[in-house]
Amino acid sequence: MNGDFHHILVGWLIDGSGSPARKNQVLHVRDGIISSITPFQAGDRPAPELATDLSHAVVVPPLIDAHVHLCMSGTIDRNFRKEQQEADCDRLRPVAKEHLRQLFSHGVLAVRDGGDRLGCLLGYESELIGQRVLVRRAGRAYYRQGRYGRLIGGRPVAGERLVVAYEQDGQPVDQVKVVNSGLNSLTDFGRQTQPQFSSTELGELVRLAHAQGRTVMVHANGCLPVREAVLAGCDSVEHGYFMGRENLALMADRGTFWVPTAYTMKAYGEAADRQPERVDRTVVQRTLEHQLEQLTVARQLGVRVALGTDAGSTGVLHGEAVVEEMKLLMRAGYRLEEALGSATAVNASLLGLDRQWGRLAPGRPAHFLVTRGTPAQLPRKLSYLEAIYRFGRPDPAYRR
Ligand SMILES: [Zn+2]
Repeated sequence: MNGDFHHILVGWLIDGSGSPARKNQVLHVRDGIISSITPFQAGDRPAPELATDLSHAVVVPPLIDAHVHLCMSGTIDRNFRKEQQEADCDRLRPVAKEHLRQLFSHGVLAVRDGGDRLGCLLGYESELIGQRVLVRRAGRAYYRQGRYGRLIGGRPVAGERLVVAYEQDGQPVDQVKVVNSGLNSLTDFGRQTQPQFSSTELGELVRLAHAQGRTVMVHANGCLPVREAVLAGCDSVEHGYFMGRENLALMADRGTFWVPTAYTMKAYGEAADRQPERVDRTVVQRTLEHQLEQLTVARQLGVRVALGTDAGSTGVLHGEAVVEEMKLLMRAGYRLEEALGSATAVNASLLGLDRQWGRLAPGRPAHFLVTRGTPAQLPRKLSYLEAIYRFGRPDPAYRR
């Protein structure tokens, strides 16, 4: 079979690996798969009938968000949020669907969901088929009753062991979500909470989940909650505010992913005018700065930083939050290509999708986002995509 062979000229290629953008490249695509990537000079362009000309644009791999809540909206309206938090699965079905639409329109083609209170997402199989965003689901999260976590989970109940709760639930999840600390205080800088589970208790769950081919994502802020999670062998620490340098070094050693969700704090600050009684702006600002300092250290130590937004949290909108989080990584000293790498190759690896997603390289599908301009205009320009390509052709479902 001769197959479909064509060439795509791109002005700039950022391949997702973290290495610098390359100017004037040709993607050679056979049957939707990249066969090779070569530089081009003005004189040696491929025959026009075989070529797609994107020489005015930057091309990057599709974005992945490693932490979203599809059953929650990022609105700052507290009454609306409260109502949504109490809604049943039928009411939440169109909500999740709309969030997937928003993600797609921002070029976010895969997400890892961090859990919903009733495990609704696990029942939406038929709605998700036909959507163009791949979803990794956690179902109901696990938290210690009486502690923080009611909004996204239900067990274990008093006296029940974590691993037993997980085993008895038998949810058909892609990854397991555990809550192991409280929320960050928005009025008391750096306040820490106690772990909900010990590393022994968490470790039992991690071993069972890993044996079943599932990863474990742990919500943890503060030194002790993060330490217990990392020692237990969890795959990723979610948030990780105020975890401290020792934990970052431990995570670098063990290859634990960190999903810092820095934009959540910026969004709280932006919403503060609307809810002055609950948010101290100065505390929120200092907390954000502290998280960015931790990110700088993580970069020096070589921690695998995976980009997740916690979309659905107050003021954090599905889709557009990815660019906001990328900007914050760059404020902490990450180069554009590194910040993009966190949202592509690193996330593909965390989600177990790295054979197909995350990088533009020979042997991989020609899935990519097209944005007019130069790398200097990124990440801002990622909010105004020109096209989404799948298997080397524009996806007709994407309309600007
Ligand atoms: Zn979350």
